[in-house]
Amino acid sequence: MPQILIVEDEVAIADTLLFALTSEGFAAQRVALAGEALTLLRSGGVDLVILDVGLPDMSGFEACKALRQFSAVPVMFLTARAEEIDRVVGLEIGADDYVVKPFSPREVVARVRAILKRSLGAAARTAGAARGSGAEFHVDEERLQIHFCNRLLKLTALEFRLLQQLLAAPQRVHSREQLLAGVGMAPDVGYERNIDSHIKALRAKLREVAPEREPIQTHRGFGYSYQPPSPAAGP
Ligand code: CA
Repeated sequence: MPQILIVEDEVAIADTLLFALTSEGFAAQRVALAGEALTLLRSGGVDLVILDVGLPDMSGFEACKALRQFSAVPVMFLTARAEEIDRVVGLEIGADDYVVKPFSPREVVARVRAILKRSLGAAARTAGAARGSGAEFHVDEERLQIHFCNRLLKLTALEFRLLQQLLAAPQRVHSREQLLAGVGMAPDVGYERNIDSHIKALRAKLREVAPEREPIQTHRGFGYSYQPPSPAAGP
């Protein structure tokens, strides 16, 4: 049963979400403070966080940044005003989606389900691919870390999930839209080009480790793929 953590100081809203989620078969708990939430999240076991932007002790954005220091758990923001969220800012700090109050609980549940399906699916695929592949990359699902040529990569949550997705299906060409969907983002206007900048950042980090390798290939007009080293070329 997926565990959802609701971080919301307004009791009525939290209760509505709790009811909607538990009646749809999710396990959900609620805390009112970001500090409490971070403590809980540090001990693990949460599959998705619904995070209010306006919390009494710190903003949801700050809480998300703090969370991303140690976890890539999917985050969905709740906000009172659409303009509060610059979607790009949301992406930079590693959020997966947001809903604007007042919202339909049914809509929230549907989005939660979609995000979980993508994040759990990506994890399962990576686990499968990692078993069969060589030692160039090592994906640690528990710690949300990726090693490349035995060096730990310092990745943002989004970069982690992009790379995880590419590694899960070597040589498969992923469109920008598929990559967005895989990291739990809606393929809205503007986001597709954003993928390019995240791939660019990711490549720079890989190049620092192994300048001679170019494991992420660009397929002009299509997207990106992970190209494993050819067996003959390896030492
Ligand atoms: Ca609030």
